Amino acid sequence: MTTRVALVTGGTGGIGTAICKKLASLGHQVATNYRSEDKARAWQQQMREQGFDIAIFPGDVTSAEEAEALVRRVEADVGPIEVLINNAGITRDTTFHRMSALQWNEVINTNLNSVFNMTRPVIEGMRDRKWGRIIQISSINGLKGQYGQANYAAAKAGMHGFTISLARENAKLGITVNTVSPGYVATDMVMAVPEEVRAKIAADIPTGRLGHPEEIAYAVAFLVAEEAGWITGSNLDINGGHHMGW
Ligand code: NDP
Repeated sequence: MTTRVALVTGGTGGIGTAICKKLASLGHQVATNYRSEDKARAWQQQMREQGFDIAIFPGDVTSAEEAEALVRRVEADVGPIEVLINNAGITRDTTFHRMSALQWNEVINTNLNSVFNMTRPVIEGMRDRKWGRIIQISSINGLKGQYGQANYAAAKAGMHGFTISLARENAKLGITVNTVSPGYVATDMVMAVPEEVRAKIAADIPTGRLGHPEEIAYAVAFLVAEEAGWITGSNLDINGGHHMGW
């Protein structure tokens, strides 16, 4: 199997960790970023104990300078980036009539502007080498909207426009660009939601449960595979049937 160098943003989070582990288990060389050095050290140690060797470097994805420095560091220490997974994300939920500019900007910067910051320094190398995989982790709520998430839904919906434009621009150069849109997955992001709300969400999901991070990682690995070279400009919904159709 051909192995690749992959950079996964937000790799220390719930879904990011599962993506890092899945790609590493397939033999890919995986790198991620951190903002807190203490958290990074503990996470990397935990990964080593589980048999995963994952490189981790500093980088806040909301800063174009830090994102570029992260990319250059991965290229120097691990190798040219062939796979980019734009996974880092946050929520700052509240209804729009109460939303502050800070809540709007933090979410747009972290979930959407980060995609520019990370992809811009990576794309030219992929174009030169004529191979690449770029995957945005969007959300079910970027497709259907959500009460209290105008900021988050706008950012996640923006990822789709970005994805299909970039897919068109780079299709002839062996680069595929896709989104994966998870439904509710049991990570810190969702566990922060009150238990009674989570129970209501689970009851609304046809499969009757929240997703597992590994179920998202499996879809990412599928799109990264060599055999997925004709899948571009696509969105893969993984939500237990919570949102079907368009
Ligand atoms: P987590 O909160 O578990 O992890 C988020 C990760 O993003 C952390 O590693 C965090 O690092 C990193 N991150 C946040 N802000 C920044 C930043 N400015 N710079 C660098 N890294 C940053 O979230 P999930 O694993 O649940 O979510 C991963 C992705 O999946 C997100 O994009 C989310 O929107 C999306 N998603 C999640 C769903 C869910 O149900 N969980 C559903 C649909 C989509 P740090 O530790 O430094 O904060």
